Amino acid sequence: MSAIEVQNLRKNYGGFEALRGVDLEVRTGSLFGLLGPNGAGKSTLIKALVGALRPSSGELRVLGLDPLREPARLRAQIGYMPQSPALYEDLSARENVLFFASAHGSPDAGKRVEEVLAFADLAERADDPVHTFSGGMKRRVSLACALVHQPRVLFLDEPTAAVDPHLRGRFWRTFRDLAATGVTLFISTHLMDEALLCDEVAILRQGSILATDTPQGLLQRGRSKLTVRCGLAEREHLIESRPEDLAEALRGYGLYPEVSAVAVRADTLETVVLGLIGEEAAP
Ligand code: ADP
Ligand code: MG
Repeated sequence: MSAIEVQNLRKNYGGFEALRGVDLEVRTGSLFGLLGPNGAGKSTLIKALVGALRPSSGELRVLGLDPLREPARLRAQIGYMPQSPALYEDLSARENVLFFASAHGSPDAGKRVEEVLAFADLAERADDPVHTFSGGMKRRVSLACALVHQPRVLFLDEPTAAVDPHLRGRFWRTFRDLAATGVTLFISTHLMDEALLCDEVAILRQGSILATDTPQGLLQRGRSKLTVRCGLAEREHLIESRPEDLAEALRGYGLYPEVSAVAVRADTLETVVLGLIGEEAAP
């Protein structure tokens, strides 16, 4: 069964179309990346999925529930980490997490709070007020709050924006660990290289999905550059990223003994994604 289903979702802010007919399906237990530049509509889509915003039209199901018709049943089963951490600055990390746990009426909250604090690597600073924390630490508190009631689906809106590379790596390992336990993760990002870390990605631009694919599938849409050094000359060929294209490009050199070097450089995922976004941008 799909954890998330979106059909022809539209959202207008006044006369502005922020979402223009979005279709999506997210497999249970997968790590799904929503990739797109600033202003693409990522936060709007996530807010609609968690029931924080009323779409203009379209169908939405999260765990089979309509977010607006059954908000209480849905909230009990999902976690949401907004783009800017919504925390009580004067409370400690532990008090913030406890607050979210009690709001969900989590049984055995005390033990679970300690678990998520340790998971987010906050145990040592748990009693310090949040206003003394760095941006990255606040994001970790926000993640702990989103996790404390053991949600089945987790919505994370740009969790790694403005986070240093070391912490970014740790966050993604955490996300993978959660997916391995069966949690479905829906993560937005404007960092194109993070697509590689997802099971599947959708590319959103100006309110429309340009592509939905696995990272491998996206890479196959890229091209490779073949460079052949032949005597003193160096020749370049642009080829599709399929083995038969490489063979075809090299065939012409078969009879030249002076070929001294052959190199193939494939597009990176970032190049492919930017290419997709740019292609569509052309009139
Ligand atoms: P992203 O999260 O991908 O950066 P958003 O969903 O925040 O994009 O915004 C998508 C578009 O909708 C942007 O052009 C933004 O300016 C506009 N927008 C977002 N929220 C509102 C709002 N409350 N009122 C009017 N326009 C909005
Ligand atoms: Mg956003």
